[in-house]
Amino acid sequence: CGIVGIVGTEFNLKELVEDLQKLEYRGYDSAGVAFYDNGKISIQKSIGKIKNLKSKIPQKKTSIGIAHTRWATHGIPNDINAHPHTDCTGKIAIVHNGIIENYYELREMLKSKGHVFKSDTDTEVIAHLIEEHFKGDLYIAVLDAIKLLKGAYAIVVMHSDFSNMLVAARKGSPLVLGRGKEKVVLASDVTPILRYTKDVVFLEDGDVVLLKDGEYKITDLGGNVVLRKVYHIDWDE
Ligand code: GLU
Repeated sequence: CGIVGIVGTEFNLKELVEDLQKLEYRGYDSAGVAFYDNGKISIQKSIGKIKNLKSKIPQKKTSIGIAHTRWATHGIPNDINAHPHTDCTGKIAIVHNGIIENYYELREMLKSKGHVFKSDTDTEVIAHLIEEHFKGDLYIAVLDAIKLLKGAYAIVVMHSDFSNMLVAARKGSPLVLGRGKEKVVLASDVTPILRYTKDVVFLEDGDVVLLKDGEYKITDLGGNVVLRKVYHIDWDE
């Protein structure tokens, strides 16, 4: 029920998990992170409280991390069903809040094309759909994949070929964006973002965001750039 995504200059993985802990109040039964690790994606997951996850996190720096607290809707709470989820190649990782209503049809369609599923979640279909549409451009692959989704989602996606890129999208589940001095950060609410910047953008339904090289671009599902107001938040962390 909570998402954090960070991309930019290198940071300590423990900081990502501390940012995730600020969303713990939203509910959780498990938690996990994926991070860029020398051209590969590494993943750590844990059932229960985020402090269980924290104890598994290595002392490591990375340029991209995505993190999730789960409130299970499809598939029991366990380590396999905890997010992030990956595609067949393990090159794409995704965190998701919400429910994909047509996941069963999508999963059958993807299985018939040879995709092998590891979890019982609705979320995993999104990873495989992005894999199916990936031809070298992650933003385009996400755009094409989410057009096929029915239901509610806030997603953040990374690909191991790109050490400085995240793609995010929302429909029906909250997602907030902030650009700090050296990092761009996404989260389910403003609290994890405030230590990076007090200027935030509340993404709207249908928004797709490309975060790359410290900049962000928000578009609609047709790929047209949309402008969103930047709000200054005057609270302390
Ligand atoms: N429907 C997804 C699942 O059950 C996401 C749940 C959530 O928003 O945490 O894994």
